[in-house]
Amino acid sequence: MRKTELQINLSSLENNLKVIKSRTSAEIQAVIKANAYGLDINEVSEVIEDYIESFAVITIDEALDLRKKTKKPILILQGVHEIEDYQKVKDFGLDFVVHSDWQLENMPETNFSNNRAWLKINTGMNRLGFHPDEFFERYQKLTDMKFKDLIVMSHLASSSEKSDQKNIEQIKLFTDLTKNINNKKSLANSGAIFNFNESHFDIVRPGIAIYGGKYLEHGIKPVTCLRSKITMLKKIKAGDSVGYDGVWVANSDCIIAGIPIGYGDGYPYFSESREVRINGKKFKTAGKINMDLITINLEQDSSIKIGDWVELWGFDTDLTSFSKEYDSISYQLLTNISGRVNKNYLE
Ligand SMILES: *Cc1c(COP(=O)(O)O)cnc(C)c1O
Repeated sequence: MRKTELQINLSSLENNLKVIKSRTSAEIQAVIKANAYGLDINEVSEVIEDYIESFAVITIDEALDLRKKTKKPILILQGVHEIEDYQKVKDFGLDFVVHSDWQLENMPETNFSNNRAWLKINTGMNRLGFHPDEFFERYQKLTDMKFKDLIVMSHLASSSEKSDQKNIEQIKLFTDLTKNINNKKSLANSGAIFNFNESHFDIVRPGIAIYGGKYLEHGIKPVTCLRSKITMLKKIKAGDSVGYDGVWVANSDCIIAGIPIGYGDGYPYFSESREVRINGKKFKTAGKINMDLITINLEQDSSIKIGDWVELWGFDTDLTSFSKEYDSISYQLLTNISGRVNKNYLE
């Protein structure tokens, strides 16, 4: 079998839920969109279910699959965008966001007494949600519709930046707008859980912190290790080039190793040398990443053998700083890993 794997440490996943729980008294809604940020929605939902009150996904299909496995509430984070999906959310008792007039106008006049609606306010991100001036009118409309519950929500644009004044403005606007209503309220994603206690309200919605992609300074642990086994070693001479377009040229005689992982596995594209680790030692890649292969300059190190593991990132890697090397973010590194990479779960 092809030895390229994403290892997922389930006890670190649980650690992260415990850390989040220790930081808030709000209910926890685990955001498991995009296949649980690439870690597999089925595996992850099972492990974390006991720590949380509800789940959030993006697509109806994700929600319907998950519905077979859990009785906990499942929120469709951007709501319904096809009229026929309202019937599905009703039949399966899904929670859904209402962020636009299209969604309101196309909502059937049916009994939604098994569904919670989440009314989204645009507090400054200017992406989804109703303008503050529109809020009360839409709120009244939804209140009249007799949902099982009506929750009001918004989303922060820069919660990972503690010093960004925009957070204070958004939290204040949300607080002011909702201060006289008794509904449950939800504003905080991972960053806001750690950076803004006053944003927690009744339900917090962590994503990336669960998966260890950020906030290690708060006790969050990395959850993943991406690694691949050496399948090829070859000696080359000073002056020889390696790989496409000959962009990398050996400046002395060296050994080149190959590992079966490439951008076809969702690893980010690169053409300049990047650092990898083999048996605890650091090495540089040689040449452009291929679709199915990465080549590494071992220099003169003959201790490294076919079958040795190469770590692209490890359980001690801070994915947020690592991702900057690729002009990316930890969210993208995790969600891009393709189905071709085996996922192995460690207890
Ligand atoms: C993705 C998402 C979250 C989770 O964000 P993280 O930064 O991963 O914690 C929370 N709320 C909404 C509306 C989202 O779309």
